[in-house]
Amino acid sequence: MTAADLLPRLSELLGPGNVLTGAEMAPYAFEWRGIETTHPAAVLRPGSTEEVTAVVRLCGEAGVPLIPQGGNTGLVGGTVAREGLGAVLLNLGRMNRIRSIDPLDYAATVEAGCILADVQAAAAEVDRLFPLSLGAEGTCTIGGNLSSNAGGILTIRYGNARDLVLGLEVVLADGRVWNGLRALRKDNTGYDLKQLFLGSEGTLGIITAATLKLFPRPRRTETALAGVASPAAAVELLARIRTATGEALSAFELMPRFAIDGARAYLGESLDPLSEPAPWYVLMELTGGLPGPALRDAAEEALAGAMEDGLVPDATFAETEDKRRQLWRLREGLPEIGRKVGGAVHHDISVPVARVPDMIARAGRELEALMPGIRPYPFGHLGDGNLHYNVARPEDMDGPDYLARSKEITGIVHAAVIDLGGSISAEHGIGTRKRDEMVVVKTPVELELMHRLKQALDPQGLLNPGKVLPERR
Ligand code: FAD
Ligand code: ZN
Repeated sequence: MTAADLLPRLSELLGPGNVLTGAEMAPYAFEWRGIETTHPAAVLRPGSTEEVTAVVRLCGEAGVPLIPQGGNTGLVGGTVAREGLGAVLLNLGRMNRIRSIDPLDYAATVEAGCILADVQAAAAEVDRLFPLSLGAEGTCTIGGNLSSNAGGILTIRYGNARDLVLGLEVVLADGRVWNGLRALRKDNTGYDLKQLFLGSEGTLGIITAATLKLFPRPRRTETALAGVASPAAAVELLARIRTATGEALSAFELMPRFAIDGARAYLGESLDPLSEPAPWYVLMELTGGLPGPALRDAAEEALAGAMEDGLVPDATFAETEDKRRQLWRLREGLPEIGRKVGGAVHHDISVPVARVPDMIARAGRELEALMPGIRPYPFGHLGDGNLHYNVARPEDMDGPDYLARSKEITGIVHAAVIDLGGSISAEHGIGTRKRDEMVVVKTPVELELMHRLKQALDPQGLLNPGKVLPERR
């Protein structure tokens, strides 16, 4: 079958309303950050695993590449169709059924197109917690979360998306279905195949469903904002809070003062939550399975000790849900502020937690030497050593002039990360955006193994080509 014969066959299979071309593709054919343009030949919207297998088989016969897509909120160009490639987007949004949810098993089996927030809500309905939580949760899908091994704000407590999966259903490149939807906590019968697909960004198979781990719902939540004198003080505070409260620490987010000034300047927030301004802030959340004041008492005691020792000038607990939301808005507003300052270069890096202060100091120093007045505003998941090390333009520089130098800026940030034993992609993945850097951050052995896996699972190279893996030399 030729590519020209393909679309009519797909229309017969999926129904004409589920094969979109031309202007109808607009809701799907864009890249979230607006950095890359995308040129899919069509958007396909299958409604079942059987339809996905049929689509994969037809595309295989026609030699047409397939790009899986969920909520399209990925930040590394993972769903971009290069011009001239002739690829089709396979959007799984119609596959949004919760197939089963079992509170006794603490497990739910959901289709890949389920919106993350809907899965959280379904778990809550049976008094359980699905703990993956991130800014895009109202739009992103489980398939996208698992394919990019998403992180988010509760990773310190519950792990990455990868850690929340018991089983997967995957359509392979040859159209067969691998049904690995087992709800087992223990299963050592050979290779753990699901791990291959988790985090593979649609390059090895199409995830159509997953069995997810659920957790007990917390009975008590304490949220506190603490000013801290420095990133080193924040790291020390993190260790003290963990020691004092054990497993209760669920989120520990670092923010520069820029978050509070920016929220006032750009987001209309009037809040300056602490009586004394601090150069850095930590937003922490603790959750406990038991009601009662013990958690709050332990956290207060740890914070009081940190104040006495000069690590924390001031701190506040959210006494109401409104106040809690207000504090979280400071953190969640940071990406938006970044957009409003007109010109920011983004990085998603991790280093060992104890080296975060070195990372911030070194990159800050070198960036200032490159471009006086440049404004780094690193923020994010300090508990995981994961910073969104974003860098705003100097106030007196034009956005386009600044962005034209983004390669130099990224070069400095990533060189510091590599020297400190870190990763240039902590949670967003590689996609197209960081693909060229794979040859620097992976060893030849790692690259060889990755290429061999790709060859074994997708010999025609039709699943999300041009993503993750660098060109073979
Ligand atoms: P898409 O963008 O549609 O796809 C992502 C990748 O997965 C692509 O390579 C795609 O081809 C592949 N893919 C999608 N579905 C499938 C499937 N069913 N089978 C195989 N491959 C598939 N990420 C974090 O880790 N932590 C955060 O805190 C975080 N915050 C964010 C906040 C905002 C406001 C935004 C816009 C993004 C954020 N992200 C974050 C990025 C994150 O990767 C995505 O939000 C989410 O995990 C992607 O889900 P999606 O359904 O939108 O996937
Ligand atoms: Zn993040």
